[in-house]
Amino acid sequence: MSTPIELLSAEGPVGATTRLIIDLDAIAENWRRMAALAAPARAGAAVKGDGYGLGAAKVAPALHAAGCRTFFVAHLGEALALRPLLSRDAAIFVLHGIPPGCAGEFTGAGITPVLNSLGDVAVWAAAARDAGRKLPAALHVDTGMCRMGLPEDEIALLAADPTLLDGIELSFVMSHLACADDRANPMTARQRERLIETAARIHHRGALALANSAGVLWGADYHFDLVRPGIALYGGNPIPGEPCPVLPVVRLEAGILQVRDIDRPESVGYGAVHKVERPTRVATVAVGYADGYLRAAGNRGHALVAGREVAILGRISMDLMTIDVTDVPPDTCRPGMPVTLIGDALTIDRVAATMDTVSYELLTRLGRRFARHYLGGV
Ligand SMILES: *Cc1c(COP(=O)(O)O)cnc(C)c1O
Repeated sequence: MSTPIELLSAEGPVGATTRLIIDLDAIAENWRRMAALAAPARAGAAVKGDGYGLGAAKVAPALHAAGCRTFFVAHLGEALALRPLLSRDAAIFVLHGIPPGCAGEFTGAGITPVLNSLGDVAVWAAAARDAGRKLPAALHVDTGMCRMGLPEDEIALLAADPTLLDGIELSFVMSHLACADDRANPMTARQRERLIETAARIHHRGALALANSAGVLWGADYHFDLVRPGIALYGGNPIPGEPCPVLPVVRLEAGILQVRDIDRPESVGYGAVHKVERPTRVATVAVGYADGYLRAAGNRGHALVAGREVAILGRISMDLMTIDVTDVPPDTCRPGMPVTLIGDALTIDRVAATMDTVSYELLTRLGRRFARHYLGGV
């Protein structure tokens, strides 16, 4: 990712000294890798949360160009925004189902709901009667996460009366894995068994879908007919601790605003939590928690200055942070020069860990006031 800046397409606020570089070609390659691992099952893509914070309007067309034809968003609004950007051969599934009174938005725009309850099923069956044709949908059944999908009692009702699905063409029956990032957890195998049992109970002989990114790495038993990777596409390691099967996607560079030498006992930043105990050179960098660089990284996180890893000193402020550049050659850290906060050795998984969170939260929190540069894509 050393493409000269003038070759990058940029969007973002005027005067931003920070830049978020998003490699769309790496996203496409990561999707191809997931698709190859899952084959002969088909691979879709989770692009909810605005493409995990990276810009669904850029990410989804890049994935489509790579061959992806099944997209998952959380909200109807996300699907409506994406629909004009993807040709009709792409299906867009709304994971949250049908908001009250909105069935017509789905049929009108050609968007497919994931039905999460018998209420959703009834609304969609009625829409099919009104339309005078079969309507496609996915059906989400709960296999133990207890969060979304038909719960046990509704599965029993549907098993007893399959005509509830009349008029609905099920593209697939799906469930979602709760613990697949942990190989030792028996939950994943149990969820697989429950999906197979549930499909049989409701007399579904068509396609099944279970795997998120981590599920793809669990192997063919977990792939069924369609997989739904998300975080792996964006460069996150789906099973931390195992070798990472995907390319990095995101790079965050921030400008140095000031550099100062401290040669007496002083403290740095809010709360005076970092005490200077040796002659120290401090650089102030134009990123803070308002940009999504979480405050939890204060006094713990790292930055890269001219390839060298340096420590974050003191608390993260709203728009600023301070780093220890004592051991960095002075000509590599002057006001205006960039430092790297995400990229190279600072993987999103590692940075997220120093913030006591996961790469998912780190990515989706990254703020809107960076200049966003997209590499590659369509
Ligand atoms: C977010 C999501 C995915 C993708 O999960 P990753 O862990 O990011 O791969 C798949 N399925 C559903 C239902 C989701 O909500």
